[in-house]
Amino acid sequence: MTQTKPHIPIALVGGGLTTQVMALTLMHSGFEFIWFSGPPSRQPAAADTRTTTIHHAGRVMLETLALWSALPEPAYPITEIAVAGQQAQTRYRKKYISWPLRWQHGHSPMAYVVSNQALKTACDELITSNLSADRISAVKIEQLQAGQPNILQDSEQNLWSCDLVIGCDGANSQLRKQAGLRAFDQSRQETALVTTVTTEKPIGTTAYQRFLPSGPLALMPTAAKSASVVWSLPAAKASALNQLDNAAFSAAVTTAFGPDLGRLSQDTPCLSWPLKPTYCPKISTAGFVLAGDAAHALHPLAGMGFNLALSDCAVLLDCLQAAAGAGLTAGHASVTTAYQARRKPEILALTSATQGLNRLLTRPQDPLYQLACVGMSVLGQLPARRLLSELAMGGQLSSAPLFDGHLRAPAG
Ligand SMILES: Cc1cc2nc3c(=O)[nH]c(=O)nc-3n(C[C@H](O)[C@H](O)[C@H](O)COP(=O)(O)OP(=O)(O)OC[C@H]3O[C@@H](n4cnc5c(N)ncnc54)[C@H](O)[C@@H]3O)c2cc1C
Repeated sequence: MTQTKPHIPIALVGGGLTTQVMALTLMHSGFEFIWFSGPPSRQPAAADTRTTTIHHAGRVMLETLALWSALPEPAYPITEIAVAGQQAQTRYRKKYISWPLRWQHGHSPMAYVVSNQALKTACDELITSNLSADRISAVKIEQLQAGQPNILQDSEQNLWSCDLVIGCDGANSQLRKQAGLRAFDQSRQETALVTTVTTEKPIGTTAYQRFLPSGPLALMPTAAKSASVVWSLPAAKASALNQLDNAAFSAAVTTAFGPDLGRLSQDTPCLSWPLKPTYCPKISTAGFVLAGDAAHALHPLAGMGFNLALSDCAVLLDCLQAAAGAGLTAGHASVTTAYQARRKPEILALTSATQGLNRLLTRPQDPLYQLACVGMSVLGQLPARRLLSELAMGGQLSSAPLFDGHLRAPAG
């Protein structure tokens, strides 16, 4: 039987990393909310070998939320980024092309590699020890009737009314559809294979990205001689590579990457992620906002998807605090319109950049490809490297007090 629950100011919906960080952000700032986390994942924690690259501004934000110091294992720094196109094929053999585009930010890390599982564990511990259990509901939201107030129906037939819904329900967001917001699917039938390798020669603290004709191959350092691999490929190729045994996969990834790090030996089985980059022109409507992959699912080539989600959390908090300071509710139009306006430039810039690079640099027969390769060498020589390093550090395309380490006193 349907049961109507008391009105709540904010409903947070989703069970991924974005929702966890959003919950921490709201919790530290004293906003009253209920988190609808969906049923717990059935995937064993050890099976998630994914890592996330968090930029410097993201690190400052996570330190401010006390999450960085709660990580069960330390994050690994990236002090240099190296990018190259495919290896050229001469008549007799592949000719190795070095890394024409490399950049650093002095000696300080631009970003950090963190295990997804470590992030989830640290978030879980902080939230469950600080948020009362009746604020977390492990049910799915089945239906949203957006408006003022919003009406939500959960999978246990409870009806909830609230001022603001924060939808963090992932790239296939149903809440987005129910709120009437459009999403443009930009997928190219690609799959990302994720695995970890031991490198024969030290990878040190350099992150590598090689644009192959079949798709980008990224190696993120996780220790002096080990790396997390994200290899994006057409779905059929990814599936064929995924069938290979350890020795054959190691040989394939070593050939694709080139000889710089010696032999790459696969350590963990490949996980495969069908890629569904999506662009949403509008990420808010009356009383409703989207955050994380529900608002912008990026191609993983730039390792920026979660970093964008961190900006969503930081900017939304700033908008909510401005409204609370003026005595307005969380669902007030000033919150949703300011959030849309402040998030749009960064989302648009990164969606265009990742989609454009993926198309351009994985089509060697395209005349623009040669131009792009020349462009990489030129960028590698110019002060533009400084700009690239600043972009990699984060906090340039969006700003909020949390990125500078400031957390205002709790609302109310
Ligand atoms: C291969 C790969 C590598 C990546 N590497 C990086 C990187 O290095 N750096 C980086 O910044 N980003 C990276 N990303 C992107 C990053 O992983 C994602 O942006 C991030 O995990 C998205 O989290 P999310 O919580 O928004 O979405 P999701 O993880 O998709 O979570 C959505 C959650 O909502 C729940 N849910 C759905 N519907 C409902 C409902 N109706 N009610 C309640 N709950 C619901 C789902 O069960 C799920 O738990 C990578 C992505 C991929 C695929």
